[in-house]
Amino acid sequence: MTKIRDLLAAGPTFSFEFFPPKTDEAARELEKTIGELKPLNPSFVSVTYGAGGSTRDRTRDVVIHIQRDTGITAMAHLTCIAHTREELVALLGEYREAGIENILALAGDPPADRTDYPHDLTYAIELVALVREVGDFSIGVAAHPELHPRSRGDRSADRKYLALKLQEADFGITQFFFKSEPYFRMLDELEVLGVTTPVIPGVIPVTNAGQVKRFAELAGAEFPQDLAERFAAVADDPVEVRKIGVDVATGLCEELLDRGVPGIHFYTLNRSTATREIYANLGLGGYEASR
Ligand SMILES: Cc1cc2nc3c(=O)[nH]c(=O)nc-3n(C[C@H](O)[C@H](O)[C@H](O)COP(=O)(O)OP(=O)(O)OC[C@H]3O[C@@H](n4cnc5c(N)ncnc54)[C@H](O)[C@@H]3O)c2cc1C
Repeated sequence: MTKIRDLLAAGPTFSFEFFPPKTDEAARELEKTIGELKPLNPSFVSVTYGAGGSTRDRTRDVVIHIQRDTGITAMAHLTCIAHTREELVALLGEYREAGIENILALAGDPPADRTDYPHDLTYAIELVALVREVGDFSIGVAAHPELHPRSRGDRSADRKYLALKLQEADFGITQFFFKSEPYFRMLDELEVLGVTTPVIPGVIPVTNAGQVKRFAELAGAEFPQDLAERFAAVADDPVEVRKIGVDVATGLCEELLDRGVPGIHFYTLNRSTATREIYANLGLGGYEASR
């Protein structure tokens, strides 16, 4: 029985994010990755959810498998847009019965191609309330240091809604970022709004610069020019790209930990090597992570 809010109270936490595999081969790859990351004693791992329920069963099966068969605390991501209330309650009931205690409550993105979907819940804060109604879960929410893409640059509205959401949740996890300034600025802005809920920074080790740059564009995270230039200079050498990616992420983690963050959440893209190298660089074997 492990709730992330309790882990954070003993913090810092170190966690890994996976996505549910689509094919048998991808499932074997994820299994290998989990096996390689388990010796790092993660505080918890999390599994993403396809907006609108496109990965409903796969996410559920992977989350329950990890928690039951590896003993690692697993958190399920869940999005509410385009689901009925009943569908969400049913899935949360399955998690509760399986002993899953941690949910990342998200809005998700509205389907781009249709409008005839259920509109029971629209915003993540409504899902937080529903999850609390269904059971004694520890509930996390997403935070976007460089503003949510749907906030369209309206900083004060973005921070107001984020603050309201964090006040109802137990913790936040951020979208990945490459420079720490937007994260600490967001914390300052939240403090002014009276929010003290812990917000775990998300870090993505760059192992493929083109891919991560595309992710960053979608997520509203800046891929800084100086980094883009460093990667461009070694674009033909995958080993060098990974080396720079690991160095950059290690430096960012060092700075974040030195400044007392509540934990680090690694976006692994279902691979273990870069995360293990960062752990080694940080000397995390000797770090007293909460678990
Ligand atoms: C750690 C992390 C994990 C993620 N995992 C997934 C995943 O598994 N699956 C997935 O599909 N996506 C995931 N995402 C992406 C994220 O969920 C998407 O950006 C999604 O579109 C919005 O979800 P949200 O929970 O941030 O939305 P919300 O917090 O609901 O915010 C969405 C937008 O609505 C605005 N808003 C909020 N409340 C109101 C209100 N009352 N009135 C008007 N405007 C309001 C906000 O300012 C924001 O612009 C993740 C993001 C992070 C940071």
